[in-house]
Amino acid sequence: MITEDEALAHILESVKPLPPRRVPLAQAREQFAARDIFARLALPVFDNSAMDGYAVVAGSCRPGQSQRVIGEQPAGIDRKLRIAAGEAIRIFTGAPMPEGADAVVMQEDVRCAGSEIFINGEVEPGEFIRRRGSDLSEGQKIIEAGERIRPQTLGLLAAQGLAEIDVGGELRAAIITTGDELVRPGGSLGAGQIYESNSTLVRALFDNCGVCIAAVEHCADDALSIEAALRRGLEHDVLVIVGGVSVGARDLVKPALTSVGAQTDLWRVAVKPGKPFLFGRAGSCAIFGLPGNPVSAFVTFLLFVRPAVLRMMGARDDELSLPKYEAQLAEEVQNKSDRPHYVRGRVAHGKFMPVGRQESHALHGLSRANALLRVPPGEIFPSGATVPVLILD
Ligand code: AMP
Ligand code: MG
Repeated sequence: MITEDEALAHILESVKPLPPRRVPLAQAREQFAARDIFARLALPVFDNSAMDGYAVVAGSCRPGQSQRVIGEQPAGIDRKLRIAAGEAIRIFTGAPMPEGADAVVMQEDVRCAGSEIFINGEVEPGEFIRRRGSDLSEGQKIIEAGERIRPQTLGLLAAQGLAEIDVGGELRAAIITTGDELVRPGGSLGAGQIYESNSTLVRALFDNCGVCIAAVEHCADDALSIEAALRRGLEHDVLVIVGGVSVGARDLVKPALTSVGAQTDLWRVAVKPGKPFLFGRAGSCAIFGLPGNPVSAFVTFLLFVRPAVLRMMGARDDELSLPKYEAQLAEEVQNKSDRPHYVRGRVAHGKFMPVGRQESHALHGLSRANALLRVPPGEIFPSGATVPVLILD
């Protein structure tokens, strides 16, 4: 059986970034920048007021001294006003600074008397002015090729006046689920049947990667149906097939892949849960066979499918793995098996606590988890130990 590292290295070597495309900003969230982008505008764009108040000359604002208000400068238009010592201009947040003014006094710190204002307290030069370029200089790099585009990145790109961005290629993915025992949610269960939950789970995991699923279908445990579904699924860039990859007589996915001319590169990885995981290829389609047990499907998706999908979408290396943080173990955790165990748990206030049953079918425990702890084979982590946990949210 190969290790997770060997499996992931092989998978990442086998998949290639898709050709980039240009999208409106509204479609760029969770995609990856196709190239470096440099600021074409300094931010702030011009010196402006950080407050509603009065633009003044700081040096002339001595306690008890009045300032004469000679005009008003709203946001959205530059009235090209200028002031001298002893004068003030009514100004609003975001409005351009009048020439000659070197500070803004908050309106809360001012007493008005006709066209005069009296200022309570000292005024420092530069106070409440947002200087041009103090946040971002023209030409400064604002995003690097392969970086994930987050809401805050989008805000910055829009503030640069950009309406579109070049991102990694659009990935087309399909899901096939297998199993005679499975009923679509919404239907009614017969004796011995359970609801088909993995397509919902896997679709949501893809969604978290910024991938919209192009096709989902369910197959009975029947060789011909699986082969037909595989032929349709292989039209995509990525095909995830769930269930039927284990070693039982009803596990028909491996032979079906051979029948449709796909190659199986690796099968069975030393990881718990998720041992029956399979990776193969057919033309340009990357094929992932996930075990049917929901927790196994979840863990193997995050360990192997997610990094491959992100790589195809143009992500750089440091975006491929889940974020990792140090946490303190709230109780002892041990792994008696010969494979690394991904323990599901919750992180809160710096502490990691395993949740629910840790078997591969135990969806309720998984549903409450927000982190995974990798425990090497044979390892005992004592309560209170500092351990690295993978963050799911
Ligand atoms: P398999 O990998 O096909 O041997 O399935 C392992 C276990 O996962 C069995 O208990 C199946 O009933 C269950 N299972 C397989 N596929 C799904 C699915 N799509 N939704 C929910 N449970 C599933
Ligand atoms: Mg099955």
